[in-house]
Amino acid sequence: MEYNHCPTCKGTLGMSAEGYTACLEISCNFVYYENPTPVVAAVIEYKDGNVLLAHNSQWPPKVFALVTGFLEKHEDPEEAVLREVKEEVGLDGEIRGFLGHYMFKKRNQLLIAYHIYADGEVELNDPEIDEVKIIPFEQVKTWPTGTGHALKKFLESKGFTPEVVPFG
Ligand SMILES: [Zn+2]
Repeated sequence: MEYNHCPTCKGTLGMSAEGYTACLEISCNFVYYENPTPVVAAVIEYKDGNVLLAHNSQWPPKVFALVTGFLEKHEDPEEAVLREVKEEVGLDGEIRGFLGHYMFKKRNQLLIAYHIYADGEVELNDPEIDEVKIIPFEQVKTWPTGTGHALKKFLESKGFTPEVVPFG
């Protein structure tokens, strides 16, 4: 979100000494911190030895990535990641581990990444996801940004050294 005027007092915005967009009115203490948004991400291990990647219908063809999503109000990340996996690819997943948190600077998001195991049937009911790809561990490539770091860490934990290629 971008502001033209202070959302608290409608005053003029400027730059604070600390480098934040802030209200310049002396009586107002609004600061626009632009705190990162938390996003959950799922590295889905599918039927032992494969990774399931998803294609977002808004993306160019052949670009596949992790299932991700925003947390709902008051939702725990563990619940959120299982909910997103169910909604986006129709799988009842099981959390097998935490893969760490990674900053995705381009979108100012803090990714919270999990290793999810699933072996059911994929069902694409969410218009956001229109295709999935199931790839054996040894053939998975990762990318040097955001969720790519989580995928790389997962593959390394399984004893693989994935090739890192630009996203898309
Ligand atoms: Zn103000």
